[in-house]
Amino acid sequence: MLGGTFDPVHTGHLVAAVNVRHALKLDRVLLVVANAPWQKSSRRITPAADRLAVVEAAVQGTPGVEASSVEIDRGGESYTADTLEHLEQPGRELFLIVGSDVAADLHTWRRPEVVAHLATLVVVTRGGSPDVDPGPPWRVEHVRIPQLEISSSDLRARSADGRPLEHLVPLPAIACIRERGLYAGDR
Ligand code: ATP
Ligand code: MG
Repeated sequence: MLGGTFDPVHTGHLVAAVNVRHALKLDRVLLVVANAPWQKSSRRITPAADRLAVVEAAVQGTPGVEASSVEIDRGGESYTADTLEHLEQPGRELFLIVGSDVAADLHTWRRPEVVAHLATLVVVTRGGSPDVDPGPPWRVEHVRIPQLEISSSDLRARSADGRPLEHLVPLPAIACIRERGLYAGDR
């Protein structure tokens, strides 16, 4: 799983998903859209159903990469430990993909020991954040990916200023953003 707020999803997320899937020979990568991201509660978050629809549009045609509504279906605040418990199945091996910025903050998560127990952590390089290794009890893989200086925060600012999103966000996802009138004004 690659969890995130995806407000909005962008090419950096997809490049991470595709390259980790290839490097570790994973069957599927789920982009798990957070319902209520408890670490971002200080700013206005786009409604979860809109963020999910944009992710669904973004993954179209990318084999083995899927949008997941599991955290939205569960409702409430989204914790990765709960999601991994939900995804756990006999014979299934779980991997949790995070950028190096997020890997530095794992100790702030709810029930980190459960997360460490249920999944192998996959840290992908993200420019501006040094590669970190949280050490035991985490099982960690590192995957180098092309460094794309793209963030959802910057995309929200670009959209508010009327600057283009094209090719920073997949075109079908931009179409979905425009159809729903998202990120159009006030940020
Ligand atoms: P925001 O600026 O709102 O925090 P973001 O671009 O960081 O948005 P998130 O939804 O917070 O996107 O990120 C979800 C996951 O994707 C995190 O693990 C994050 O580290 C990773 N990620 C996001 N952008 C990139 C990128 N360009 N390269 C590698 N990993 C990324
Ligand atoms: Mg982020």
